[in-house]
Amino acid sequence: MKTITILGATGSVGTSTLDLVEREPDRFRVVALTANRDVDRLAAAAIRTRAEFAVVADEACLPALQAALAGTAVRAGGGPAAVREAAMSGAEWTMGAIVGCAGLNPVMAAIEGGRTVVIANKEPLVSAGEVILSAAARTGATLLPADSEHNAIFQCLDPTRLERVRRIILTCSGGPFRDWSLDRMRDVTPDQAVAHPNWSMGAKISVDSATCMNKGLELIEAARLFPVSRDRIEIVIHPQSVIHSLVDHVDGSVLAQLGPPDMRTPIAHTLAWPDRMATPMAPLDLVAIGRLDFEAPDPVRFPALRLAREALDAGGARPAILNAANEVAVDAFLQRRIGFLEIAAIVEHIVSCYDPAAPDSVDAVLAIDAEARILAGERVKDLV
Ligand code: NAD
Ligand code: MG
Repeated sequence: MKTITILGATGSVGTSTLDLVEREPDRFRVVALTANRDVDRLAAAAIRTRAEFAVVADEACLPALQAALAGTAVRAGGGPAAVREAAMSGAEWTMGAIVGCAGLNPVMAAIEGGRTVVIANKEPLVSAGEVILSAAARTGATLLPADSEHNAIFQCLDPTRLERVRRIILTCSGGPFRDWSLDRMRDVTPDQAVAHPNWSMGAKISVDSATCMNKGLELIEAARLFPVSRDRIEIVIHPQSVIHSLVDHVDGSVLAQLGPPDMRTPIAHTLAWPDRMATPMAPLDLVAIGRLDFEAPDPVRFPALRLAREALDAGGARPAILNAANEVAVDAFLQRRIGFLEIAAIVEHIVSCYDPAAPDSVDAVLAIDAEARILAGERVKDLV
C-alpha cells in the first residue's frame, strides 16, 4: 500500500489525483487532504477515502469543516500550521496541487519528509527553484513532475546522458486566442479566457494558458527541473495537445511523449513510477486525430513568452517577481478590474521597476513575492 497526501485536493489536479487513487483502494491509502475553502468537497473526499486528516488553509473555514466531519474518524485541521502538518504527514507520495506561490511553504514541508513529492504546482518552482532543489537534495526527497510537458520530458530524457541532449522542446497549445489579433484580444472576457480548447483546468492556469504565461512559467520550470542549459529549451506551438513535449538528441533522434489531453495520464505516471498503472481513458486514436500541426510562437501577440524568457536569463529574484505580478494581474483580470492585455503589461512594468537581490531562503522569496504583489496591486489601482 502506498500512502498518499494531496495538497490542493479539491482543485482540478487534486480531483484528477483522487479519481486515480480511488480506483485502486488496494494499492493506495489516503493519509491527508487539504483545500483552501472548499469545505464540502474536501469533507466528502476525506470521508470517501477514509483519510486520517483533512485541512482547510483558511482557518475561518475550520468550524464548518469540523461540523462536516462530526461523527467520522477524519480529524479536521485549519490554518497554515495544519497545512504544514498535513504536508509532513509522512505519506510516501505527496501531490503538490495548490495554485500559486501559496503552495511554496506546503511543498517545502513535504520535501522535509524526504519522500516522493509530485510537483503540479509550478509557481513555487518558478519563484524559489534553487531553494526547493537544494532542500530536496538535502532531505533526499524525490521530485517528480506532474505538469504534462515536464512529465513528458521526464519520460523521454536519460539523466545519465544529458550531454547527448541537443534541445528540449516544450509544446504549447497556443490557448484559445492562438490565431487572434492583438486588437481582438483587447476585449477578451474572463469567460472566454478560461474556456481552453483542449484542457479542463482551474481558472488561474486557464488564464495563464490564454496569455501564454503558462508556457513562460513552464520554460522556467523546465530549466529548474532539467539540468540542460536554458538556451537549449525551446517552445513550439502544437494546437492539438497530443505531443506533450520532446527531447532532441545529438544523433538527430527526437523522442516525444504522446497522450490524451487529460492530466490523469501524467499523474498516473508519477503515482506508479517507476511502474505503470492503468487509467480509464480510451487509447489514443491517431487516425481520428489525423494530423499534428506545429507553429512558431509569436512573442509580439504573446509578450508573456518574452517576459518569462528574460526573467529566466536574468535569474535572481526576477522569476519570483514575474510570478507574483502575474498572480495579482490574473486575479484582477478574473475580477474584471483590468483588461486581458493589461496582464502582461503589469508584469512587464513590475519586473522593470523592482530589482531586489537574489533570494537564498524561503523567507527571502516570500518577502520578494509579498513586495511584488503590493507593487502589482498598486499598478492595478492606477489602471482601473
Ligand atoms: P485549482 O484552482 O483547480 O485548485 C487549486 C487547489 O488549491 C484547490 O484545492 C484550492 O482549494 C487550493 N488552494 C487555493 N488557494 C490556496 C491557498 N492560498 N492555500 C492553500 N490551498 C489553496 O487549480 P489547478 O488547476 O488544479 O492547478 C493547481 C496547480 O497545478 C497550479 O499551480 C497549476 O499551474 C498546476 N497545473 C494544473 C494543471 C491542470 O490541468 N489544472 C496542469 C498542470 C499544472
Ligand atoms: Mg503544462
